[in-house]
Amino acid sequence: SVAPLGSSVIPIVNKLQDIFAQLGSQSTIELPQVAVVGSQSSGKSSVLESLVGRDFLPRGNDICTRRPLVLQLLQTKRKLDGSEEEYGEFLHLPGKRFYDFSEIRREIQAETDREAGGNKGVSDRQIRLKIFSPNVLDITLVDLPGITKVPVGDQPSDIEARIRTMIMSYIKQPSCLILAVTPANSDLANSDALQLAGNADPDGTRTIGVITKLDIMDRGTDARNLLLGKVIPLRLGYIGVVNRSQEDILRNRSIKDALVAEEKFFRSRPVYNGLADRCGVPQLAKKLNQILVQHIKAILPGLKSRISSALVSLAKEHASYGEITESRAGQGALLLNILSKYCEAFSSIVEGKNEEMSTS
Ligand code: GDP
Ligand code: MG
Repeated sequence: SVAPLGSSVIPIVNKLQDIFAQLGSQSTIELPQVAVVGSQSSGKSSVLESLVGRDFLPRGNDICTRRPLVLQLLQTKRKLDGSEEEYGEFLHLPGKRFYDFSEIRREIQAETDREAGGNKGVSDRQIRLKIFSPNVLDITLVDLPGITKVPVGDQPSDIEARIRTMIMSYIKQPSCLILAVTPANSDLANSDALQLAGNADPDGTRTIGVITKLDIMDRGTDARNLLLGKVIPLRLGYIGVVNRSQEDILRNRSIKDALVAEEKFFRSRPVYNGLADRCGVPQLAKKLNQILVQHIKAILPGLKSRISSALVSLAKEHASYGEITESRAGQGALLLNILSKYCEAFSSIVEGKNEEMSTS
């Protein structure tokens, strides 16, 4: 089954939000942004799409992503009849709901053309898209134009420098997770993605290496040593993936079918035996989820003290009315208790002991 981004984190975050709601305060669980970087046509948009599990990004073997796309996923409540409603809304078209995801793709293309022209021009003005769905985590993903070296069409002569500056403005933010995408059929030592990520995150604490196109490597070569970090080590490691090819795109192959094919690809190649935790989009989602959980764990002490002080001021307020605060204080203590339990559960998730933590 597909393991979309957030699957194991959503229940945890929801529970925390519930705790805050019960105390009458807004939650501030701010998750880090995730940005994809790499050279043009390395497979960045393809990777993002698979993580989200929906087809809506322009992809292709030419320059497709020509403006930064800031994609905000927002979780909605499931409808009472259990049906799922997923739609997108652009900042530049307020109030217009897109239920058809291929229409979202057409609008991204049209809006790209409006700002950057129809002739391969690139602009650093963002397109902002919200996707509302009951199946997502509240997180922001950023699809960025890839590095190109030779100006084509309307591109200025300093196109490479401009794109580098644009990318750096996103990934230098300390809260940004970087997916550094390099195709397996190019030399890792020449990777624009690793170079950019290395500049933005020299300690490698927020960079995940993603190796795409494992299916089209030269005969007799494989990505085993890349994935093992033996070529260029990376603190958080590498995940190898097989996205849809251009032919798959032309044939409208679905994400679901592509994930099945990817799984089959890895299963049928003995060289990837024993590397299961480094192979496939679901593993990438899992790795991201673990990092998000770690992030939540790190901000928990702050959340706890916020709850404690909320309790103290509540108690004071009640005392000033001369009321007995039994029930409210009892509720608060209970919530703190739940939160502490969560801290423990987080630890075990992070250590990978209890992957499918139940929240019931
Ligand atoms: P981006 O420019 O980095 O966003 O790359 P895209 O996601 O638009 O992909 C560029 C081209 O490479 C498209 O034609 C994709 O179908 C193709 N592609 C991406 N990933 C893979 C892969 O893993 N295997 C194969 N065979 N093709 C891929
Ligand atoms: Mg792209």
